[in-house]
Amino acid sequence: VSVYFGVDIGGTRVKAALVNETGEILYKTAFDTMPERGLTDLSQRLRHVMSAGAEEIDLNPAEVLGVGVGVPAFLDVSSGVIIEAVNLGWSNLPFKSALEQVFERPVRIENDANVAALGESFAGAGRNHRNVLCATVGTGVGGGIVLNGEVYRGSNGMAGEIGHLVVDREHGTRCNCGRHGCLETVASATAIVRAAKKLQEKGALPAQIDITGAQSVFELAQNGDQSAQMVVENAAHWLGYGLALAAVTLNPDAIVIGGGVSKAGAFLLDPVRESFQTYALPRVVEGAALMLAELGNDAGVVGAARLIGQRLSE
Ligand SMILES: [Zn+2]
Repeated sequence: VSVYFGVDIGGTRVKAALVNETGEILYKTAFDTMPERGLTDLSQRLRHVMSAGAEEIDLNPAEVLGVGVGVPAFLDVSSGVIIEAVNLGWSNLPFKSALEQVFERPVRIENDANVAALGESFAGAGRNHRNVLCATVGTGVGGGIVLNGEVYRGSNGMAGEIGHLVVDREHGTRCNCGRHGCLETVASATAIVRAAKKLQEKGALPAQIDITGAQSVFELAQNGDQSAQMVVENAAHWLGYGLALAAVTLNPDAIVIGGGVSKAGAFLLDPVRESFQTYALPRVVEGAALMLAELGNDAGVVGAARLIGQRLSE
């Protein structure tokens, strides 16, 4: 059995797991990122976590063959340098070489959205498919593309950034990227909450309800509130449209939707599918299984382990 250490670095928490070559998690844990302590500190904490985890499952740490890491950053994957990680406050850091020094094992790093896509396509919903488009719908809309079982990065790592497809050209709100009408301004959890609150101000949604997240809007909609249903349908419509644009270009075998919003399940997926079928060519629709992600928060660590496992078994 080959075992790899998969790490998913987030702005506030780090998830880490020992994962075997089939994508099965043998041990997992999570701890605070504390990026302000710097790279050496984080590397050493990770090294410690790996050894402690191995001990817990009666594995000799020497049998952990390599380390894969997903990081929320723009990266130069060949040199292993973090160019910029806004959420971590890091820039121009030799991330891969620092980790290799501490771990004394091969290390491979990749953008976190790409790593999560790899995880879902390897051991999650996309496991029976070679070419998978993944969309993560949460605070924003992220994405990743896996072609022939490998992350497709594009020219400089921006492939699959479907959240910034400009879809609503006419009425678009401003996006974090500075443009207007990006998919994530109309289909993310943030967009759903924004739209619901706007309707609430107009009196179309009950004033006493505290709209804390997209989940509360889904609940209202499921209980028959027509305004909430309109908000959900609108977001689903845009998501299906964005996925159709991407799918006509890629002709993927599978499209996997994950992230917090995907917890709405069929209630979201059905209208997304309807919109997707409206805007994508019939043969593209036929070729693409549209489904919900299965790994949840584990997609990152499983994908990270796969990232290095794939390299070492080449
Ligand atoms: Zn944007």
